[in-house]
Amino acid sequence: MSKKSIYNKDILKTLADVGVYISNYITGEDLISKEWKSIPRTFNLKDKDKDKDKDSFFDFIHTDDRARVKNAIEAIYNGDTNKFHEIYRLEYSKGLYKWIDSFGKTATKTEDGKTEYFVGFDLDISDLKKTEQKLRISIEKEEKRTVELETLRQIIKVINSSLELKETVQIVLNETKKLIPYETASVEMLRDGFLKPIGTVGFEDNDFVNNLKFKYPDNNSLSTYALQNNKPLLCNNIAKEFPVFSQPKEDKSVKSWIGIPLISKKNIIGLLALDGYKKNHFNEHHLELSEIIGDHIAIALENSILHEKAYKMAMEDALTHLGSRYRMQIEGRLLFNNAVRSKSNISVAMLDIDFFKKINDNFGHKTGDTVLKTISKACIDEVRNIDVLARYGGEEFILIMQHTLLEEAEIILTRIKNKIELLKHPGIPYPVTISVGISSGIPKRENLLDSYISIADKQLYISKENGRNRITSKAIY
Ligand code: GH3
Ligand code: MG
Ligand code: MG
Repeated sequence: MSKKSIYNKDILKTLADVGVYISNYITGEDLISKEWKSIPRTFNLKDKDKDKDKDSFFDFIHTDDRARVKNAIEAIYNGDTNKFHEIYRLEYSKGLYKWIDSFGKTATKTEDGKTEYFVGFDLDISDLKKTEQKLRISIEKEEKRTVELETLRQIIKVINSSLELKETVQIVLNETKKLIPYETASVEMLRDGFLKPIGTVGFEDNDFVNNLKFKYPDNNSLSTYALQNNKPLLCNNIAKEFPVFSQPKEDKSVKSWIGIPLISKKNIIGLLALDGYKKNHFNEHHLELSEIIGDHIAIALENSILHEKAYKMAMEDALTHLGSRYRMQIEGRLLFNNAVRSKSNISVAMLDIDFFKKINDNFGHKTGDTVLKTISKACIDEVRNIDVLARYGGEEFILIMQHTLLEEAEIILTRIKNKIELLKHPGIPYPVTISVGISSGIPKRENLLDSYISIADKQLYISKENGRNRITSKAIY
């Protein structure tokens, strides 16, 4: 094969300048493309020994690409293939790389089939790669955002569903982990001077943690710090930023922390806390997401508090704190059904304050209210927990006593009546008394509560007729 160059020096230089390279694998003679010319391949003599190791073709190719390119070149050299097409990173200056798209073909071969002349073309595609990288990052961001939006949508859905609060919080915390890689997390409700977990994830014994309660405020607690500052807190190095709060140096001790105060109508109602066991575990974006999630958890908490309030309002009389008539119906029905099943005696007493209208008229409605409260309190103290005591109407009360015979009911009510008569009421110069009607028996079938109440009411009327401050009772067979 002829080794003569068919182009003159200027043409070869121009070819190299536009990226062409020509290698003679037999003689080692080569025309280097401008991309390869740009690398510090030759060194001044003094440094030569020091940098000897670097003075090799492959050392300038990124380590991640090196083996691949080396294999492809060897395949050409051995004559296994005629074509070369590789994209690789070339270190053109210390630590700086450009992307090269290199394409080449065997031009001539020796008689024994080895590659002789090889011609190729190097193209700097760094800009393209940069754009590609940017595009990839923005696609990844977009994908991440889609996951975030979908997860947030899921969280909102759970919060608006009619699940129980604890269940809601648990699902929300689990969903949150898809967005924020926390180690342990909890939602705590602030109530009566304590932070009480209502949902936890990641603890070795979640049930145990769920049964704890933490004093608030507590000067040694990061939770207190976050709540008192009333704003979201991201701390990526507790030991350094808050040495007072740092914990023993165990593997699983919390080193990074996000705390989101849960706020409803400007009141702190709880805390969302996310823990990381490593320093710098969280970033600002995690904090932003936690805030959004915290806002939604606050809504769930608020709903639950409202629901609880409404339930309490329905079940409890606001003035006397006795059970409401509604509660009496629900619980009384259960007691009656039990009595039917166990064939046991049950007694119902109706109590009514005597001449209560006069108290209002003579001493004012406020005094009347106080009398109602005082008498209610006296009754509560006299009845067992298993009994049902409720405010039935204005100044009328119902007491349902299970497993209680007529005579026993009379004894209990006599004690209550006498106690009430002895009460002192500021501003009222005479004793306030009550009249009572009792019905008692073993209910033969279910749903007899109303009938027993109606009989007790008739007995009460008789007590009133007979001069008040007395008890009338009737056994039902
Ligand atoms: P009797 O001995 O026959 O039971 O007479 P009374 O005056 O107690 O009974 P009446 O039914 O005529 O009057 C009951 C009064 O109770 C009328 C009502 O204004 C008053 N009342 C009802 N609820 C309340 C309340 O929550 N607070 C006050 N202060 N008064 C109430
Ligand atoms: Mg009355
Ligand atoms: Mg009355």
